[in-house]
Amino acid sequence: MNSKRQFQIGNVTIGGNAPVVVQSMTNTDTADVQASVAQCKRMIDAGAQMVRLTVPSLKEVEPLKEIQKRLKSDGYGQIPLVADVHFNPKVAEAVATFMDKVRVNPGNFTDKRNFSQLDLSDSEYAAQVERMALRAKPLFEICKQHGTAVRLGINHGSLCDRIVSRYGNTPEAMVQSALEWLEICERYDFHKVVISMKSSNVLTMMTATKLLHDSMLERNLSYPLHLGVTEAGNGREGRVKSAAGIGALLLMGIGDTIRVSLTEPPENESPFGHALVEAIGNMDVTSLNVQDGTLTFADDESDETRWMCRAAAVAGYAHFQHGLREVKLRNPHFTTEQLADLEALVMQACRIKILNTEFVACPSCGRTQYDIQSVFAAVKQRFAGYPGLKIGVMGCIVNGPGEMADADYGIVGASNGLVCVYEGKKRVSEPMLPDAAMAQLDKLIIDN
Ligand code: SF4
Repeated sequence: MNSKRQFQIGNVTIGGNAPVVVQSMTNTDTADVQASVAQCKRMIDAGAQMVRLTVPSLKEVEPLKEIQKRLKSDGYGQIPLVADVHFNPKVAEAVATFMDKVRVNPGNFTDKRNFSQLDLSDSEYAAQVERMALRAKPLFEICKQHGTAVRLGINHGSLCDRIVSRYGNTPEAMVQSALEWLEICERYDFHKVVISMKSSNVLTMMTATKLLHDSMLERNLSYPLHLGVTEAGNGREGRVKSAAGIGALLLMGIGDTIRVSLTEPPENESPFGHALVEAIGNMDVTSLNVQDGTLTFADDESDETRWMCRAAAVAGYAHFQHGLREVKLRNPHFTTEQLADLEALVMQACRIKILNTEFVACPSCGRTQYDIQSVFAAVKQRFAGYPGLKIGVMGCIVNGPGEMADADYGIVGASNGLVCVYEGKKRVSEPMLPDAAMAQLDKLIIDN
């Protein structure tokens, strides 16, 4: 949409003037070929234009090849497949030989996140960046050889200690992380790169993406940007959060591909992604009504989903530009209660006003080994109505604690259907059944 660089990922054109690509991610165990193929097909039938699968270890590489083969032979080969790789450069190198795109997380490709403050001199810092660059070289060579694209997936919740110690846990730190890797890409003459700057905080995600967009322009770089709000949750809250962050950036003309992450069956994500892109496609935001920190948004959209998208996107946009204190919605097709309900959701999503408990929940992926959707639903039901309280429900112990680091309490998946309870960043229980974890969470919150 806004990036100047355009290229193919499989059969899909990304960047330049190409339409925004709507993508999604499986939550099956990638080693379970049958379940993963079936889920990919449901997602593609629902409108996913690119599908990502997690590859936690080398053990999933052969099943991934088989998934790709079966999708091709069943007539689904037109949709590019993306491998999601954390921690293990060897896995990235293995999947780069046959996948259309590989997502790496610069925060944990060679660096670590132990929440430690590192006091590095400039030369020590530079040496660590150089070590990372050398370790990444084979990946970029393989990608060049096979025409594979790379997504640099920067997450606010998984920035490495080196970056956080120097730049704080901030949008600026996210930009530094992206720029370090873009320099590495440029050094190796590798340009098939997409970048994402994700956070569960809508304003952080918007700020980081806009800053990176501007920083790239200053450097005469213009790589496509992938937009998403992580751990958005589910239902209307999750959709409004995503629409506020993604929609606001699209209204600024920023963004080439999007994913709406929901803690729901993954086939629910793309229909809402397409609805969002279409609902805000022709909006004019040049003369919004903002007075004394209050946005008054009058709209005549009668479709509820489209109205939700438009209201959330405009509020996100106006909050980013003006710093809002209040949002007032006007629409003749909806009741006063419906207007007030959406106003509250939009303001909570943008943190203009915190009117309810804040919930963060990852969409889950092949690393999740418990029924996160029902646990999250139970947590939301039990702990609604505590403004100022933040609770995380995360799929795995590998990334979950980092991704919900600013939550007051959390439930994080362990193995074999068990979960652990967290108080802040600290694990306060052994792995236990979700019902027992709910009871412990209840006691912790009531005691406090
Ligand atoms: Fe997957 Fe959730 Fe773990 Fe992220 S936190 S890797 S989405 S299970």
